[in-house]
Amino acid sequence: MSNTNNVENETENTAEVVSRNFIEQIIDKDIEEGTYEKIVTRFPPEPNGYLHIGHAKSIILNSGLAKEYNGIFNLRFDDTNPTKEKSEFVNSILEDVKWLGADFRDEIFYASDYFDAMYEGAIKLIKKGKAYVCDLTADEIREYRGTLKEPGKESPYRNRSVEENLDLFERMKNGEFEDGSKVLRAKIDMASPNINMRDPVIYRIARMEHHRTGDKWCIYPMYDFAHPIEDAVEGVTHSICTLEFEDHRPLYDWVVRELEYVHPPKQIEFAKLYLQNVITGKRYIKKLVEDGVVDGWDDPRLVSISALRRKGVTPEAIRMFIELSGISKANSVSDMAMLEYCIREDLRMKAPRWMAVLDPIKLVIDNYPEGESELLEVENNQENEELGKRMVSFSRELYIDREDFMEEPPKKYFRLFPGNEVRLKNAYFVTCTDYIKDETGKVVEIHCTYDPATKSGSGFEGRKVKGTIHWVDASTCVDAKVRLYENLIAEGDDVLKEDYSNLNPNSLVELKDCKLEAAFADASAGDRFQFLRHGFFCVDSKDSGKDNLVFNRIVSLKSSYKPGK
Ligand code: ATP
Ligand code: MG
Repeated sequence: MSNTNNVENETENTAEVVSRNFIEQIIDKDIEEGTYEKIVTRFPPEPNGYLHIGHAKSIILNSGLAKEYNGIFNLRFDDTNPTKEKSEFVNSILEDVKWLGADFRDEIFYASDYFDAMYEGAIKLIKKGKAYVCDLTADEIREYRGTLKEPGKESPYRNRSVEENLDLFERMKNGEFEDGSKVLRAKIDMASPNINMRDPVIYRIARMEHHRTGDKWCIYPMYDFAHPIEDAVEGVTHSICTLEFEDHRPLYDWVVRELEYVHPPKQIEFAKLYLQNVITGKRYIKKLVEDGVVDGWDDPRLVSISALRRKGVTPEAIRMFIELSGISKANSVSDMAMLEYCIREDLRMKAPRWMAVLDPIKLVIDNYPEGESELLEVENNQENEELGKRMVSFSRELYIDREDFMEEPPKKYFRLFPGNEVRLKNAYFVTCTDYIKDETGKVVEIHCTYDPATKSGSGFEGRKVKGTIHWVDASTCVDAKVRLYENLIAEGDDVLKEDYSNLNPNSLVELKDCKLEAAFADASAGDRFQFLRHGFFCVDSKDSGKDNLVFNRIVSLKSSYKPGK
């Protein structure tokens, strides 16, 4: 036994060495050089919306690194901007991070808890002659900042004395000045080629209620000043963020250097996750929710974490997808088909495979004794014995899916048509003898005969049939609604138009009259199944009830994605 383990470990180690991403390489070096004792990472969401699949990438990356290096992973709400934050978002974020299985430190952090530390940091900068109070208006500051081609111009307030700055800044805090009338700026370099370094504003006056600190503060720190302090106070070692912050890194480094932290954190940028033809940005998802295009943040057509969860996607599938999509410094776009592949892979063995008829049509077996029925013992998942068996009832009247019957079939159609014999999955062979239409010409009932000798599992070795179809027993089946989802953006378009004129009209189709085998009667919210020959489905957590079953299609069985391509 121990031998096998050794071999396994060896393979694991070799694989790790080969596939180390650029962030792991940086951390390896930091450890080798003794820069940090323990690795600390964090996920710092701004509570101004729900998390989406892109955030899942950041969560899985940061928590994964902490785990890999036996370090610590912090969840910190970046709530320094009081205008947008809502407790609803804090709660949803907590739920989503937990659901994804990220192991964060018990204590939850809030950037607003560091307002005092940030205020003291500002005082320290002033005392070092590295920050000053500026009376220019926002427009003037913008004008003075210069452009990419031209250097900026120094503010006339730049050379105020330390004493005057200390006095003014304290009075800013005490509420003596109007909103927007003064700011505190870092004194760096108005001629820097990096515009972020041209005396950036680090504090502003704004009388706004904060969801945690109330009206204690009327000055609030700017993101670029606040974020490095948050990281440093928490002892974060590697502050991993997305590429758009690359140009802000010199300022990040300036702040932690000037504030003289003993083990300053290090910012590392990676490329965001984008999905082809799918709306991922928080701002854009928010707009769809607010405009009522979708039914809330957890509408299964979205890729917010709560929507994916409600649809029935597993955290394991999301993790597999994030791992497959890789960590890189170059922007790229991932394919939804890859996520769907991961979902199928994850659910293939886990989900029971039961029978469900989505577009029912009656099938009557004329030679099956009226009033009788039998129970057939059927495996729940042919590839996974562990899921056990169940009893499926069979009787004279069944339902099959409409698409499994044709009056006049084309060549290579092996399902039911007049005169043809097929296998009813897990049951008997039946031969179609007749069918009945209504006044509109729609087929409403099919008649057949069965051969009792062909019972599934009886060892019958007689005739072969080419088609196998699924069915449910009309006398015991349960009713359900089934929701099928497609992309929100109409096929052929990449982006959703402002006026929503290219919304996919089929993004949600609800089938109202589905017939499911009796076992489904006990399914409860969040349960996942494979509907044989149809796909993977999940009991909707919002709208489904005991006598009103509602299922969401997680993914169909067909795949266009091939791993490694
Ligand atoms: P969005 O870009 O959707 O508006 P955001 O970046 O404003 O999101 P935050 O709450 O500020 O949302 O993000 C928290 C963390 O998640 C940040 O570290 C951010 O870099 C990361 N993040 C956001 N979107 C993605 C993405 N698409 N891929 C990877 N990481 C992301
Ligand atoms: Mg943001």
